[in-house]
Amino acid sequence: MKKILVIYTGGTIGMVKDNKSGALLPFDMSKIYEALPVLREFNCDLDSYRFDPIIDSSNMKPEYWIGLVEVIEKNYNNYDSFIVLHGTDTMSYTASILSFMLENLNKTVILTGSQLPLGMIRTDGRDNIIGAVEIASSDLVNIPEVCIFFEDRLYRGNRTTKINAEYFEAFYSGNYPSLAKVGINISYKKNLFLENPTKEFKAFKKLNDNIVLIKIYPGLKENYFRVMLSMKNLEGVVLETFGSGNAPTEDWFISALQEAIENGIIVYNVTQCKEGSVVMGHYETSAHLAEIGVVSGYDITTESAIAKLMFLLGNYDNKAEIIDMLTMPLRGELTNN
Ligand code: ASP
Repeated sequence: MKKILVIYTGGTIGMVKDNKSGALLPFDMSKIYEALPVLREFNCDLDSYRFDPIIDSSNMKPEYWIGLVEVIEKNYNNYDSFIVLHGTDTMSYTASILSFMLENLNKTVILTGSQLPLGMIRTDGRDNIIGAVEIASSDLVNIPEVCIFFEDRLYRGNRTTKINAEYFEAFYSGNYPSLAKVGINISYKKNLFLENPTKEFKAFKKLNDNIVLIKIYPGLKENYFRVMLSMKNLEGVVLETFGSGNAPTEDWFISALQEAIENGIIVYNVTQCKEGSVVMGHYETSAHLAEIGVVSGYDITTESAIAKLMFLLGNYDNKAEIIDMLTMPLRGELTNN
């Protein structure tokens, strides 16, 4: 029988209606079997852990990520898999950062949540929890990665983006197929899973948040751009560019970036598109970025790029090594060929 730890961090999924006031209040996850008796049908034993404090995921921040990693690390040897109940708003960021912080993971970590609270009649939370538990307790597969289960799909977490604030199909993975699809049966695409690690599991507990995300848009002003690039202690920039990594060719734009790079700031180029990759040099409007030392993020998501920069800057000192790792898939987060 598999042992699963359900870690409740907060978010819509954990809300139930208070019978007296009618208000939505956080649900007591230690009573998960009472809320969903059907979970007893699975061949697993569920324990629960309540995050302290429970948060709306819009309040997520690096110190909570470190706390989450500490809970997983502490319980790593006692459980076969982990389910993290999390608000949907920043779930892709948390899945991405966990994928980097949990190195050589040989157990399944599934994040899930819901668009409607568990305590509401049409909630999607019920099916999302049931699906996550079924996959996490399966004897058919071991998926050694951090995933998101939502609606009817299991995704590689660091490939996802929340794309819908209304409908139940809230997540999208434009550059990597889903790892499993739930219908009458669950069809697993085992060839898409990360390989089982050969080295020992290691939890990293340092992050460096001296980074900024800058989205390019027509009309971006030079002085605003320069102010962002000259912020105190800045060490890394995720630059969200157009299409296949393109940006303005105006002198002020290139020289502002060049100065930042010369000052030791790493500039990581990711595309604003939900599918496809940065190909620096494909157009003249990206060739100059490569020339001044902007680093290609290939087809990485913005969420994953932010997580990867925080992780690498927090745990490695050698800049050349960091730049090298930014261009390579560490946890299946990008395709660089
Ligand atoms: N604001 C909520 C959160 O992300 C929304 C949700 O859970 O879906 O925590």
